[in-house]
Amino acid sequence: MPRPLTRRTFLGSAAGAGLALAIPPSSAAEPTVVRPPAAKAASDWPLSDHRDEAALLAVLRSGKWGRTSGGASRVKDFETAFASRMQARHCVATSSGTTALLTALGALNVGPGDEVIMPPYTFVATFNAITANFALPVFADTDAASFQIDPAKVSAAITPATKLLLPVHIAGSPADLDALSALATSRKITLLEDACQAPLAEWRGRPVGTVGLGGCFSFQASKNLTSGEGGAILTDDETFAHLCYDFHTPGGGKKSASSGRGANYRLTEFQAAVLLAQMTRLEAQATTRDANAAYLSELLRKIPGITPAALAPGVTRSAWHLYMLHYESANFAGLPRAKFIAALAKEGVAASSGYTSLNTSAHVKALASNPHYQRLYGKDTMARWMDRNHCPVNDRLVEAAVWFGQTKLLGSRTDMEKIASAITSIQLRAGELARS
Ligand SMILES: *Cc1c(COP(=O)(O)O)cnc(C)c1O
Repeated sequence: MPRPLTRRTFLGSAAGAGLALAIPPSSAAEPTVVRPPAAKAASDWPLSDHRDEAALLAVLRSGKWGRTSGGASRVKDFETAFASRMQARHCVATSSGTTALLTALGALNVGPGDEVIMPPYTFVATFNAITANFALPVFADTDAASFQIDPAKVSAAITPATKLLLPVHIAGSPADLDALSALATSRKITLLEDACQAPLAEWRGRPVGTVGLGGCFSFQASKNLTSGEGGAILTDDETFAHLCYDFHTPGGGKKSASSGRGANYRLTEFQAAVLLAQMTRLEAQATTRDANAAYLSELLRKIPGITPAALAPGVTRSAWHLYMLHYESANFAGLPRAKFIAALAKEGVAASSGYTSLNTSAHVKALASNPHYQRLYGKDTMARWMDRNHCPVNDRLVEAAVWFGQTKLLGSRTDMEKIASAITSIQLRAGELARS
């Protein structure tokens, strides 16, 4: 994949920087200044241009590379901009989505003996943020239609030890926040949103991240808003914001009651500068994904055996980090999903089978025999823990899901038509493909 700013070209740019910033991109004559190509294929990610280059060079030359160096801070500017765009009162930027989760769980002093309810249909980082705190992850099964955590299963999983509900807005589509907020309120449990895939997503017209106490976002390289690595916590709660701030910077804030725990999870000025540049295109990209996703769903709903993931009734905007659908092989002459995906690739349509079963993975199973967990919770509890984690709906879902990545949705309407016609063409030849 062509990258406009590889390490080499970036260093090249920096070397010729005196000219690079003064000369408009079209008249570049300096051989050491490597320009991003004018037009990029829709599948390329991340995207950048002179705005990102200028922002990075400005940080480099300023000598202020970290937020603790004093004076004006791009990290602060980004926090203000992201909070404002997401209608949140406070933002704390972190070094990753994982460290956003670790900071939030640290600020809440989640620890040994606490149970945290999470979905099985998510990236392993959600699980790791819980186990890094020696708390016990408890899986609540998936709603088959939406691929999101099922609030009825969350309700059934709550015990006196439940400290936190940690739903994930998977694919960038909000989980059922009405039902989850109602549960959190009635059972007096904190609700924290793993919104790592969901910048700009909305629940009943309100951006996600502050429906619960707070929300965690990721700016890792594949995400819709990216600086390679990075993350943020949004909240409307000033006390929680201070606790998060103080947790993420050693000896930094001193504004809040310390739990005696903390770490350095700060974002750098370079990452903040890139994020501010990336934010200038975020809304336009999201609007393109909205339109393409709606059109693609309209086309795919006409194909028997293809069912796009439903949006929960309160979803007024998805971030469309992923486009997910159910594949029913019975409507494709029994063509197995792996062969369907291979056939799509041959038609030039890259797709993935998505997450494998997290709750039954070797990584998760290993927790049951982890000596620390056995000592903290008891061997019997850890043996029973595996039984508590059964998620039969999710087990079926992971066998039937097909994903397209967010960059597909940055293409044209014609690209959406190509996806639909590739699927239709495969369906017509499915019997023959199944035998081959
Ligand atoms: C990406 C992601 C994370 C972790 O973010 P990183 O920035 O990679 O640490 C956590 N949860 C979900 C759902 C994610 O997609």
